[in-house]
Amino acid sequence: MIIKTEEEIELIKESSLLVGKTLGEVSKVIGPGVVLSDLDKLAETFIRDNGAVPGFKGLNGFPASLCISLNEAVVHGIPTSYVLKEGDIVSVDCGVLKNDFFGDSAYTFAIGNVSDEIRNLLNTTKSSLYKGIEKAIAGNRIGDIGHSIQTFCEDQGYSVVRELVGHGLGRSLHESPEVPNYGRRGKGTVLPENLVIAIEPMINLGKRSIKQLNDGWTIVTKDGLPSAHFEHTIVVRKNKAEVLSTFEFIKGEN
Ligand code: MG
Ligand code: MG
Repeated sequence: MIIKTEEEIELIKESSLLVGKTLGEVSKVIGPGVVLSDLDKLAETFIRDNGAVPGFKGLNGFPASLCISLNEAVVHGIPTSYVLKEGDIVSVDCGVLKNDFFGDSAYTFAIGNVSDEIRNLLNTTKSSLYKGIEKAIAGNRIGDIGHSIQTFCEDQGYSVVRELVGHGLGRSLHESPEVPNYGRRGKGTVLPENLVIAIEPMINLGKRSIKQLNDGWTIVTKDGLPSAHFEHTIVVRKNKAEVLSTFEFIKGEN
């Protein structure tokens, strides 16, 4: 694990803030009739106009600036020419690299009116992210974060994706440790102060099994039921985690 200095945390905060603003730009236009690849272009332009580069583009060959994952897609969706329609849900995951440091955050948007069942999945997944963040304090363990997310979601009948997890980040998008969204209280690595991690619950309406599509990227639920994903970059502190990314620019959030 790479513990960050306050100067490094400040740079990650700047990158994470730009991610939050980019998601805010996306939120202004996202809706029925919008083409996914247009959202990607908008995000890339905004990121570059702000002196940064898209964090995902080219990473392991990923072709776009945003991961856009629709309905039964969990994560790693490639923006396509698909036109959004009322009732869709869409996870928009954004990373930027600025001043040599990454920021990473994701938000799942409801397109127009969605069913109460899906609205509840989104609300629960977002709430579970904050349940996890509450446990990200120095001296706690990795398992405390996952346990908190898992019990909160499973108590409401949802399932937690196991194969994909949160992660440390800094000069690299993915650093140690892995941060699973499931786990046992009091187990796993002790969280040190100034550890920067991305916490990102991926929660399914149906069963937890997933598979990868033939595009080599998109992860979908095996049962074809919807999945939600919310993510913040945070820094572990003594009494309360500090959230470095933000949803404050997202239309409808406040
Ligand atoms: Mg992400
Ligand atoms: Mg991430």
